[in-house]
Amino acid sequence: MELTKLFARTILDSRGNPTLEVDCFVEGIMLGRAAVPSGASTGAYEAIELRDGGNKWNGKGVEKAVENVNEIINPKLVGLDISSPYSQELVDEILLELDGTENKSKLGANAMLGASMSCLKASAALGEIDCWEHISYIMDTKPSIPVPMMNILNGGAHASSDVDIQEFMVIPHGFDNYKSALRAGTECYHSLKSELKKDGLLSGIGDEGGFAPNLPTNEHGLQYMVRAIEGAGYSTDEIGIALDVAATEFYTDGKYNFDQKKISGEELAEIYSGWVEEYPLLSIEDPFDEDDWVSWNLLTKNIGKDCQIVGDDLYVTQVKRLQKGIDTTSSNSILVKLNQVGTVSETFETLKLAWDSKFSTIISHRSGETSDTIIADLAVGSNAGQIKTGAPARSDRTSKYNQLLRISENLHNYATPFKR
Ligand code: PEP
Ligand code: MG
Repeated sequence: MELTKLFARTILDSRGNPTLEVDCFVEGIMLGRAAVPSGASTGAYEAIELRDGGNKWNGKGVEKAVENVNEIINPKLVGLDISSPYSQELVDEILLELDGTENKSKLGANAMLGASMSCLKASAALGEIDCWEHISYIMDTKPSIPVPMMNILNGGAHASSDVDIQEFMVIPHGFDNYKSALRAGTECYHSLKSELKKDGLLSGIGDEGGFAPNLPTNEHGLQYMVRAIEGAGYSTDEIGIALDVAATEFYTDGKYNFDQKKISGEELAEIYSGWVEEYPLLSIEDPFDEDDWVSWNLLTKNIGKDCQIVGDDLYVTQVKRLQKGIDTTSSNSILVKLNQVGTVSETFETLKLAWDSKFSTIISHRSGETSDTIIADLAVGSNAGQIKTGAPARSDRTSKYNQLLRISENLHNYATPFKR
């Protein structure tokens, strides 16, 4: 069963920017199609997303990346037998060798990931199994449906509001199946809308589909989250809160510009510790800048037993940075995004290192998304435990939640990472 063609094209993402879609043909039949997402609050250490620059598409064109798939990657993969689940490793080795750079700047991580994911999907289709099942074979895991983290209040780089914190999420963890959890989280989304409307704060929507009000302070965001949960008729024992602070975005000259004050990492850590006491705050992602390792360690030592501390920009899904975080006790959890590293196999490696170190794992979308649902399959097949994929609104976000609904019709093993 030979790969006969890889074909890339430009499509639009959820922000109206161009991105790549790649089709993988086996024996002349298109069996795997994959689209590449794109971040806004990207980490400095992410693999390079190749953009054309110039005037077209505000410099964000991906013609060069498309060309790299069609003219450089395609000829090298044609003829490869991808019928075995284990062929993914070979595909990715070829991509890495072809690129030959540390940060994937030659071919572009977007070109490489499009190729890598389309081969994964085609290989699953060849085996006549779902992508999540295929992933669980490769990774040798017991698949499970992840607990959703739903971003219902957007700020930071994903909104035009004055809220510093990028994401306020609900975690409906107190349910024994995904369907009930999804309904509860979605009811909180609608409840938040009512609460904001009552206060005359219903304005725009952020990039990930959540509401994006202006608020007097960041803590008001937490208060609205509690109102949303209780207003929907739930208790904060069954639905908790997660934040993605994305603090690198407001860190300059060694200080955090938070609530219109310049404060130190230590002061910010104090604020988080207070919030964990006062609110049902279960998880904090990127609480500090991507190079402020000292503050990460301080917070993990102080509240790591009670709260999930998640590295996103800190680790950028890369084994080397994650190893540093493990060695320096900088967090207890990692956010995993395929396009931060650029191949499927490297993503698997990062997940395995995290589990070996007893870190929890969260599979994540990007703020610029498409209708591709691969992250739902990845979260299930890898047994990651958690997924964050935005608000339960807008089809770029709901496509992932809906794919999990489909998978959960046949798979009843539901992850319960927050069960105490
Ligand atoms: C995030 O920071 O976790 C995120 C999803 O945003 P972006 O894709 O903009 O990095
Ligand atoms: Mg993040």
